[in-house]
Amino acid sequence: MKRIISLIIITIFITSLCACGCDYDGPIIYTKTSIYFDTPCTITVYDYDNDDIDIYDTIDEGFVLLGKLEKVFDKNDKKSDVYKLNHSNGKFVKVDDNLLKVIKYAKSFSKNNNDSFNVCLGSVIDLWGIDTEHPRVPADKEIKNALKSVDFNSIKIKGKKVKLKNKDTCLDFGAIAKGFATDALKKFLVKERITSGIIDLGGNITTIGSKDGGNFKIGIQKPFGKKGQRSYIVECRNKSLSTAGIYERYFKQRGKLYPHIINPLTGYPISTDLYSVTVIGDKSITTDTLSTALIVSGLKDGIKKVNKLDDIDAIFIDKYQKVHLSNNLKITGNNITFKNNK
Ligand code: AMP
Ligand code: MG
Repeated sequence: MKRIISLIIITIFITSLCACGCDYDGPIIYTKTSIYFDTPCTITVYDYDNDDIDIYDTIDEGFVLLGKLEKVFDKNDKKSDVYKLNHSNGKFVKVDDNLLKVIKYAKSFSKNNNDSFNVCLGSVIDLWGIDTEHPRVPADKEIKNALKSVDFNSIKIKGKKVKLKNKDTCLDFGAIAKGFATDALKKFLVKERITSGIIDLGGNITTIGSKDGGNFKIGIQKPFGKKGQRSYIVECRNKSLSTAGIYERYFKQRGKLYPHIINPLTGYPISTDLYSVTVIGDKSITTDTLSTALIVSGLKDGIKKVNKLDDIDAIFIDKYQKVHLSNNLKITGNNITFKNNK
């Protein structure tokens, strides 16, 4: 199985600035990468004002926030609230405020997209183990059995307490937590007076403000291409982009590729003609969840769904590397822009 990360925590801190005497009049660029949520997370800040904020410290505090959120949502960490809830034997558990917010969002999103997204898929996801070192193809019987625990109506909320009525229900936030964390990090950085920057949490990108007074140019990873190889560039500002793809986390057995995204109705990894779906919207929690849901829906239904939603756009890349755009996007060469300049 292809793993995109190493277990060693890599921390890169790069500052681009010119020493005195240089003619450079652009922003000072601060960028740092660290591993959270099992994936490289990068914060980049463009400092145009050169004021007295200590941007290194602000970025580090941002990573502390990511560390805290990671601990809340990791269902394999025995100390996490999600672990406690998943092992609460049908009893009410008081949960962290962030988790409560995400559970409410996830339950309603699962209800509205019940053929493509389900936050209660934990037992099925664990059976396949695709994001682990030991993925396997489970027996049909095991899958059918695990599917008995995935009804999202099992989630009951009372004040700040949550219970999983069916004690076998297991919540999995793999398709939401990074999106939620991206929004939380953006909120924090803006509060700390960062006016221009990019956050990239493993496929979830959000931009702050503008770049040199104009749009950011965000590259879309070419599916199955080299890491960092772009297929298209999206020009946008103050937007979130999330990509769900079958090309990064998967395992292969007897020539068949099993991606880490599960069809919630069958309990099997999706079998699809799509390589990736990138969703563009205002909030990363929305784009993260929708990108996963849309790749499950497939091109025809997925594009119909997006075109009905306000302020949401999507880029579908199929198995021929052909691009399909929702109604409000247009393409010139490799550049994707908005038809109505939102
Ligand atoms: P993403 O990388 O955002 O597409 O999310 C994929 C992760 O979400 C997987 O690793 C699982 O933890 C979880 N997941 C997989 N399939 C689904 C699904 N249909 N609905 C909700 N979560 C899913
Ligand atoms: Mg997603």
